[in-house]
Amino acid sequence: MPITVLSQETINQIAAGEVIERPSSVVKELMENAIDAGATAVTIEIRDGGTSLIRITDNGCGIPKEEIPLAFLRHATSKISRVEDLLTVSSLGFRGEALSSIAAVAQVELITRTEHSLTGARYCIEGGEEKSLQEIGAPAGTTFLVRNLFYNTPARRKFLKSPNTEGNYIIALVERMALSHPEVSVRLLVNGQNRLHTAGNHKLKDIIYTVYGRELTKELLPVQADFPKIHLEGYVGKPLVSRGNRTYENYYINGRYIKSELITKAIEAAYHGFVMQHKYPFTVLHLSVDPELLDVNVHPTKMELRFREEDAIYQAVYDSLRTAITGEELIPRVTPGK
Ligand code: ADP
Ligand code: MG
Repeated sequence: MPITVLSQETINQIAAGEVIERPSSVVKELMENAIDAGATAVTIEIRDGGTSLIRITDNGCGIPKEEIPLAFLRHATSKISRVEDLLTVSSLGFRGEALSSIAAVAQVELITRTEHSLTGARYCIEGGEEKSLQEIGAPAGTTFLVRNLFYNTPARRKFLKSPNTEGNYIIALVERMALSHPEVSVRLLVNGQNRLHTAGNHKLKDIIYTVYGRELTKELLPVQADFPKIHLEGYVGKPLVSRGNRTYENYYINGRYIKSELITKAIEAAYHGFVMQHKYPFTVLHLSVDPELLDVNVHPTKMELRFREEDAIYQAVYDSLRTAITGEELIPRVTPGK
């Protein structure tokens, strides 16, 4: 083939693949947007594992009608404006890639109204092509309907697993999101059936109960500790509730579910001697870390974080878990007057 420049449509579809791999990626991006919009309640509805329909409704700040088409442009965001902002960014999103990516590979309908606007707006976009924008009455907040994901990219569609499996990915993701934001009421409906509903009452233990059940919730140890620039809280399982794989190890940094070799190592070191070899503990840990210690700008899906001051993070996790497990105070307290 001779060299040619790809069409904008093809460029957009390829770029979309970076962000939107499967239905659960859509749910992740739209839930993050809802949380960034300050929502206190988010409802997710899926049909056929999210392949035919994903509907997400939030009661967040809404999008002004005149900004809607902009929100669907690549690299359009209200969350950062300069590269320096990355040092202090605390929102879950900041790349401005999600809406454009989703719209490139699905049929999207958006209904939104800001609190101070009298009327709302409805916007339709399919395969990156704007279809309509009109004023309509709507509750304050935002609803996204995403239909027929990958309808125009058969190669991607082919790689989807069964609706049941895709649905399970979404359920696992929504559970993680609910655990990461105890202040947000999260509701998930799968093919019309209620699958998850959290109260949004800030009580992490209630969410653990909802997600993991009563037996496990009885075996939890609370964790709470403060270190310079790092605050930790959450629950860990007593050593006896360990599992044969790492699916029980959950941790969140500044409200973001991540994977980190450093934190995994610290957790497992804290349990060393308390669980058998090849057994892994249960944890739901929230780390609040000064954004300056983090580099979130690693990969578009942002599962991996980079840390400055790795030792401090490792030690904070290790010490606070060890204290929770053994009941012994490992963290030296500064006594006034000494
Ligand atoms: P990012 O989240 O990285 O900024 P997105 O493509 O996900 O990029 O969203 C683009 C913009 O659209 C956001 O910056 C925000 O201003 C707006 N937006 C998206 N979803 C919502 C929502 N649920 N409520 C309010 N505003 C939203
Ligand atoms: Mg986003």
